[in-house]
Amino acid sequence: MLRLAIQKSGRLSEDSLKLIRECGISFITSSLKLKTESTNFPLEILYLRDDDIPGYVADGVADIGIVGENVLVEEGYQALAVEKLGFSKCRLSLAVPKADDYESVQDLNGKNIATSYPNLLQAFLSERGVQVNIHTISGSVEIAPSIGLADAICDIVSSGSTLISNGLREVERVFNSQAVLIANDGLTAEKRELLDKLLFRIHAVQRASRAKYILLNAPNDRIQQISQLLPGIKSPTVLPLAEEGWSSLHSVVNEDDFWEIIEKIKEAGAQGILVVPIEKMII
Ligand code: ATP
Ligand code: ZN
Repeated sequence: MLRLAIQKSGRLSEDSLKLIRECGISFITSSLKLKTESTNFPLEILYLRDDDIPGYVADGVADIGIVGENVLVEEGYQALAVEKLGFSKCRLSLAVPKADDYESVQDLNGKNIATSYPNLLQAFLSERGVQVNIHTISGSVEIAPSIGLADAICDIVSSGSTLISNGLREVERVFNSQAVLIANDGLTAEKRELLDKLLFRIHAVQRASRAKYILLNAPNDRIQQISQLLPGIKSPTVLPLAEEGWSSLHSVVNEDDFWEIIEKIKEAGAQGILVVPIEKMII
């Protein structure tokens, strides 16, 4: 049995549960429960505060966990990271009151800065030879300047709207973060095998999330030209259509470049193009 720690309630919770479900692992959730056991995979899920997850995984209370890189590195457990998961992307940034002059990070010398991430901030500033007074607070960091607690803040930002509504301006990016899967470094062979199984499924889900299945019709004399435009896994599948002289081509394209590919294949004579999501992809 593998024990997985995820955030009980917060910005990581929903996507962590979604990933596990997309891996075909079923379980019943209840907001009152602190743990659940999967009904079809030897996995137990523990619901914890995100800040406690790295420590519990390091101590072996949980075997694996899902946590933001910001918390992982802040707490000094980066060695536990196994796999970046691509969700809960955010950044840790420095922000100053909107009206303040700010040219470079040197302007922060001697200032009071409020943050929940003193270690990440200290590392960033030390590298740049800047000395500040760090005030570590656990929440509501963005109001610190307006109540006179600090001259600037260092906090998690995604869209930046919270900063704007508190009269602040983002001036430096300190750290880029996303959710990561972490694991205890002394897993038994049996647990290691289960983790490998889980990772195999996670890779299939991740690959599929970026890939699209594309189907199109084309005159037979254009198949070769169109095939060259479709990267595919190996080469596209070509099936004859009932209509003489026409075929259907099937392939897989990456989401990042499918708009460009679609334009080119249309120019090359493709018709009736369908792009559909892929649920799992094993190569
Ligand atoms: P807990 O009660 O578990 O301690 P918390 O209040 O510390 O929760 P959340 O605000 O739920 O934490 O954020 C959890 C993690 O989600 C953060 O550490 C960060 O990695 C990520 N995160 C935070 N804010 C955002 C955001 N705006 N967009 C995307 N990801 C975010
Ligand atoms: Zn937290």
